[in-house]
Amino acid sequence: MSDPAIRLTGLRKSFGSVNAVNAVDLEIADGEFFSMLGPSGSGKTTVLRLVAGFETPTGGTVELGGVDVTRRPPYERDVNTVFQDYALFPHMSVLDNVAYGLRVRRVPRRERRERAEEALRSVRLDGYGDRRPAQLSGGQRQRVALARALVNRPKVLLLDEPLGALDLKLREEMQVELKALQRQVGITFVFVTHDQEEALTMSDRVAVFSDGRIEQVATPAELYERPASPFVASFVGTSNLFPGDKVLGRPGLFSLRPEKVRVDGDGDCAAPGVVAEVVYAGAVTRLVVDLDAGPRMVVLLTSSADLPALRGRPVRLTWNSSDLIAL
Ligand code: ATP
Repeated sequence: MSDPAIRLTGLRKSFGSVNAVNAVDLEIADGEFFSMLGPSGSGKTTVLRLVAGFETPTGGTVELGGVDVTRRPPYERDVNTVFQDYALFPHMSVLDNVAYGLRVRRVPRRERRERAEEALRSVRLDGYGDRRPAQLSGGQRQRVALARALVNRPKVLLLDEPLGALDLKLREEMQVELKALQRQVGITFVFVTHDQEEALTMSDRVAVFSDGRIEQVATPAELYERPASPFVASFVGTSNLFPGDKVLGRPGLFSLRPEKVRVDGDGDCAAPGVVAEVVYAGAVTRLVVDLDAGPRMVVLLTSSADLPALRGRPVRLTWNSSDLIAL
């Protein structure tokens, strides 16, 4: 078996008394689209900076392609980083921005131009080479930043919330594009985000961070269907978390996804309650139900004309015990 693109072993980083990264072990395979997901301050960016070499770890090692690079400077690591704020040179043309890294490496002029044009084509910006960054939209600037990172043909591309500055619609378009681009170039992508939907839609696997530690590493489907902890269950998607002794008559903490619950459907579990809220959201409607046993339960249903009338009414919620996740 070949070495993983990235292997982190016992990685730690403290800033004074803050343990930003706390004993992280992780392997990312060659060619994977891997996301690091977690709330603000959970240590994702610091892990990325440790991989890139912008920070030196307090403990542990960073390996790239089986080689220990822990003590090597950034320019001796075969990785490139795309930042949220693009960091393009305003006085240079788009083509020169993209070719900059090649000039630093003393690649001959003609090859520089060819490779920069090829990189611009790969992000669908051919014909834009003569413009200045200021003459581009936010999404186009982000694609120039991508082209500039790809032109060196790094083994690994690190992306730190690269879509954070874009509006929702553009963001969703770029998610699809990034995924297609990654498939096309076959480079390992490591993507940092606090947006769970973004992580789920693009990634082969996701690491969920909390407090400098990894809570779970799994495929998007596994994360959603089998969260390993209450934190993952509530951070990834919406969950009903409730104590089993009250609702199910057995001990333990359980999670149940809102779309798995029905009103008076079939299912081998049932609980009575009263509808506190009916929230219309287009294709779906969310019911908030106060169970007689105590906890609140959110139910996601396909919208229909009769749902608003349920507000204030007693209902019987049903679900299958196989959809319960024991935590
Ligand atoms: P965000 O999504 O907000 O970027 P994050 O998950 O990427 O958050 P980090 O930026 O890695 O989190 O920060 C982890 C912790 O380390 C935070 O408590 C942060 O304040 C702290 N930290 C990060 N960089 C430094 C630094 N240079 N000096 C001091 N503390 C730092």
